[in-house]
Amino acid sequence: ARRDPNEAEFIQAVHEVVHTLEPVLTKYAHVLERLLEPECIIIFRVPWMDDKGEIHVNRGFRVNFCQALGPYKGGLRFHPSVNLSIIKFLAFDQTLKHSLTPLNLGGARGGSDFDPKGKSDNEVLRFCQSFMEELYRHIKAHQDVFTGDIGVNSREVGYLFGQYRRLTGHFDVCLLWWASRNIRSIATAATGYGLVYFAKFLLADLNKDLRGLRCVVSGSGKVAMHALEKLINFGAVPVTVSDSKSYLLDDDGFDNIKLALIKEIKFQRKSLREYTKRYSKARFYEDAKPWGEKCDLAFPCATQNEINHSDALALVNAGCQVLIEGSDMPCTTEAAEVIRKAGIFIAPSKAANAGGVAITDLEAMQNSSCIQLSAETIDAQLQDFVRTMYLKCLGVANEYGFPRGAPESLVYGANIASFLRVAQALLEQGCV
Ligand code: NDP
Repeated sequence: ARRDPNEAEFIQAVHEVVHTLEPVLTKYAHVLERLLEPECIIIFRVPWMDDKGEIHVNRGFRVNFCQALGPYKGGLRFHPSVNLSIIKFLAFDQTLKHSLTPLNLGGARGGSDFDPKGKSDNEVLRFCQSFMEELYRHIKAHQDVFTGDIGVNSREVGYLFGQYRRLTGHFDVCLLWWASRNIRSIATAATGYGLVYFAKFLLADLNKDLRGLRCVVSGSGKVAMHALEKLINFGAVPVTVSDSKSYLLDDDGFDNIKLALIKEIKFQRKSLREYTKRYSKARFYEDAKPWGEKCDLAFPCATQNEINHSDALALVNAGCQVLIEGSDMPCTTEAAEVIRKAGIFIAPSKAANAGGVAITDLEAMQNSSCIQLSAETIDAQLQDFVRTMYLKCLGVANEYGFPRGAPESLVYGANIASFLRVAQALLEQGCV
């Protein structure tokens, strides 16, 4: 906080982790100090021309947080709110998320305050080309790996990859574009599917099942849509989706036909209000969030700090019993406190939304063996991966005195386990 007093999100993310590390801090305090400083930050100008010929300038970021465990891997976010604090918090969380997995991956994140919304394909293309024109100087095959995040979908990934290939003459990269179709489609789905698998394992330990449970979901992007798909698949009753301005409630629950309609509305970049033209019993709420709707489970899948103090109180009053974090750091500090005190079970994002990371391993396996993995095999491996993550959080929590079934056990387990692995690597490497 002394060094970066204006980086609110980064400071918040660090506080949330550090307060859970007390059981191990005595031995590793000096390592923590190093870990909290990113290894390298790149900030660059991204000029681009709109369709009318006017020049705009955005800012690009890449924060390479820690390479102790492997190549810098992490998604790019294009959203007007993007700033250094947000990218640093995401890169810090990504470092720990990768450390929690059995994979050898470092942590990074990047992005820009560019807003792809309302831009033509050509404008997005020119922006992505300009963004890569600077970034490519700083990245190397086998050292940097990029995926999508908010505002970065297959279109943006394709444009970025195309420009990288053109500038370097290499087809090696770093971006998931070249992965085979089956891997690419599940990579997009894996975060949302993984969230629901995580919920399933957690509920099984509480002697519960997803079937019939009422779920409040926020967001209507990649993570939310795939979480919804899997929830429907398991017989749960997802009743809301949202976007940055509004939310939609369907008390009967969404099914696959309704989900297809929501995807079509989003694809056409229309308002969620459109849904009520087909389903008149559904309710659309402008300038509102879904957290006050009656529910058993909540799946925040939009952005950081999307649940504030009053949202958390609403969630408690709505009967929520489990919070499964799809977005990284979905709760403000005050909201997290309310949720903790209410005894709501928390599935922390570091573990619950790490499904996409599993795909990195599958991709490498498929490339080296030249065998096309079937969708069923990939899905089975994803489930195994999520189960391993869940059991690891539980095991480490238990080891440090947080009992199975305590609402916050998984948070402690995820933070301690992930910190210990990366801290040990840093120690062995001379704390560099
Ligand atoms: P998308 O861009 O596909 O979707 C984001 C959704 O969140 C949209 O519905 C968007 O609304 C909404 N949203 C964005 N900003 C805000 C805001 N400030 N307030 C309210 N709603 C907002 O992103 P993803 O689905 O990829 O990512 C969602 C979350 O999951 C992010 O927090 C991301 O970091 C996290 N995550 C994503 C992973 C991935 O692989 N994609 C992996 C791990 C975590 P609108 O349509 O109006 O823009």
